[in-house]
Amino acid sequence: MRTGVFFHDIFKGKEWLIIGDKFRNFPEVMKDALSLPQVSLFSPSKVSDDLLLKVYTPRFVEELKKAWYCDGALYSVGGCVEAVEMVLTGRLDNALVFTVAAGHHAERDSAWGGTYASCAGPAIYNIREKLGTKRFAILDTDRHHGNGTRDIFMGDHDVLHVCFCHQDIVEDNETKICVNISYPNNDESYLNSVREEFISRVKEFRPDMILHNFGHDTCQGDYGDIGLTKDFYLKLAKEIKECAMDVCEGRYVVLTHGGSRVDIAEYIFPKIIEILAM
Ligand SMILES: [Zn+2]
Ligand SMILES: [Zn+2]
Repeated sequence: MRTGVFFHDIFKGKEWLIIGDKFRNFPEVMKDALSLPQVSLFSPSKVSDDLLLKVYTPRFVEELKKAWYCDGALYSVGGCVEAVEMVLTGRLDNALVFTVAAGHHAERDSAWGGTYASCAGPAIYNIREKLGTKRFAILDTDRHHGNGTRDIFMGDHDVLHVCFCHQDIVEDNETKICVNISYPNNDESYLNSVREEFISRVKEFRPDMILHNFGHDTCQGDYGDIGLTKDFYLKLAKEIKECAMDVCEGRYVVLTHGGSRVDIAEYIFPKIIEILAM
């Protein structure tokens, strides 16, 4: 597979809200994975204001621009926009996109929880402008409810959003789902929930791409610990990659999300690149 890794050097050396400086040793810790011939490292550009304004209110963008974490958010969203476009236009098969200060808690006019701009929102708007309507399945395995992703795509039946959080919801013509993940949990039971609630739906839904909000806050010892081991994340990436091979020619974009443990990030992400590239 041709795998893209999107990382900007400003993602390290700062204490980002919630996740801290978990990428302090990146991209160096990914050296071996990045040296694989099928893997390319990209330093993303900032997302444009034009694109942000397609998703957000002008007031929201103005406030974001004043915040100290703004550049982190804009490069993160930019990486997601580029990755989704490169995968859907066939330059890459899949991608791992690093993000800070951006992610699933950013709604159209408000944001919280360490994520101050949506990655999926602008990325999907951008590619639809270029290629027409595309269908997306968004899997959210961060510990917390993806309120921002839900808000932005509510009413859009070409986006399936399956979020593993703390509530049971089926809404918006069965395209927006929340699955209550109990605490404590374990690797096998969580994977079974993903198979039953996400993979089975994706096979019916037939998206053009799977986007994955890939938090590791659920790991033992991280701030959303529900009892999962570090190796769970590798199994999860492998299963979703296989699912993407079955339903959408392998088009799979992984976005880093919650989790602040440096050791977990350094263990899982280099291996996830190898899984994607296999
Ligand atoms: Zn979280
Ligand atoms: Zn949810």
